[in-house]
Amino acid sequence: MYACSPRWSNDWITINDLKTILSQLSDKIMPSPYGVSRVGINYGLHFTGGEPFLNYSLLLEAVEIAKEHGIPSTFVETNSFWCMDPEKTIERLRELKEAGLDGILVSVNPFITEYIPFERIENNIISSFKVFGINTMIYQYEFYKQFKEANLRGLLKFEDYIRMYGVEGLEMVELIPMGRACYQLRHLFNKYPAHVFFRENCRSSLLREWHAHIDNYGNYMTGYCGGISLGDARKLDQLVEEGIELDDKPILEMLINKNLGELYKFVVKEFNYKEKVGGYISKCHLCLDMRRCIATRSRDYPELSPREYYQHLTSNKESSMPNI
Ligand code: SF4
Repeated sequence: MYACSPRWSNDWITINDLKTILSQLSDKIMPSPYGVSRVGINYGLHFTGGEPFLNYSLLLEAVEIAKEHGIPSTFVETNSFWCMDPEKTIERLRELKEAGLDGILVSVNPFITEYIPFERIENNIISSFKVFGINTMIYQYEFYKQFKEANLRGLLKFEDYIRMYGVEGLEMVELIPMGRACYQLRHLFNKYPAHVFFRENCRSSLLREWHAHIDNYGNYMTGYCGGISLGDARKLDQLVEEGIELDDKPILEMLINKNLGELYKFVVKEFNYKEKVGGYISKCHLCLDMRRCIATRSRDYPELSPREYYQHLTSNKESSMPNI
C-alpha cells in the first residue's frame, strides 16, 4: 500500500518532528477497549515503516517520547528481519518494553517470506510472547498457520506460494487491492474497464477517524490511500481545528466531494491520460494510475505526497506473470 522499498532515500523522521507530532496526537488516540496497556490493530499508536527496526535507536527514542506523552496502547510492527539470535531478540524486546512499549505486531505473509527466513519470524513470535504475552499480535495468523503446517524453513518465493496454495490461499486473508498490488499482483485479480468505477466517491475512506498513518515527512494519511496527504501532521491541531484546505488540492477535492469519473475527465484533459487496455483490478487501481500519471508529470498538487511513493510502485516493470 505504501510502496515500501530499500530504494527509498533514508529520510528518517527527526526527533523534533516526532516530538511535535506525538505531543499533538496524545489527546486524540483511542486506547484498546481492554485498557490503555492492551493493544489492538485499530487502536492506540503503532510504530511502523517500512521497517522500524532498521533504525532501532530511533524506534527506542520514539517509544520513550510516546510514553512521556502518556499515549495508550502502543505497539511496533515488524517483519522480523533482525531476529537472527534468540537472546538478542529478547534483549531488544525487553528494552522496548521497559521504555514503555505495550506490545508488538509480527507480520507474517508470503511477501515477507520472500526475503525473511521463516525461522526469524518464529524466533520473534516465541520471544514476543515471552516479553509481551497477550499483547503479541500475529498478522496475519492464517499465513502463520499455513507456514507452520508446511514446516517452512528459509525463504519461500511468492510464485512458489501460489503454486503450493493457489490463489485460494490468499482469499481467506486481507489482501487489499491498492498500492503496489495493483501493478505487481494484477494477474491475480479480475479486471474491469475504467467506467465501472466512475461513480465511486472516497469521502468515507479519506475522512475516516480510525487507523490513520503519519509518514516520516509528516504527511497525514487516512484510509490506506498511499500517496495522498491530507495535510501536515506537524500542524495537526490546526488541521483538526480549521479543517483540510482543499482550495490548493484539487485532486483531493475531487476524491472527497465528487467522484472518480470527474478525476478521470480531468486527467484525460490535462495530462492526456490513456485508459489501461487490460483494465483495472479495483477503484483504487484506477485512482492510483491516474494519480501516478499526474505525479510523474507535474510538481503541482501537494496532496500527491510523498512524490517518491509514485516512483517506487513497481520494482522494475509491471508484472509479466500470466493471468491465473
Ligand atoms: S480510490 Fe483512491 S482515494 Fe479512494 S480509497 Fe482508493 S486509493 Fe483511496
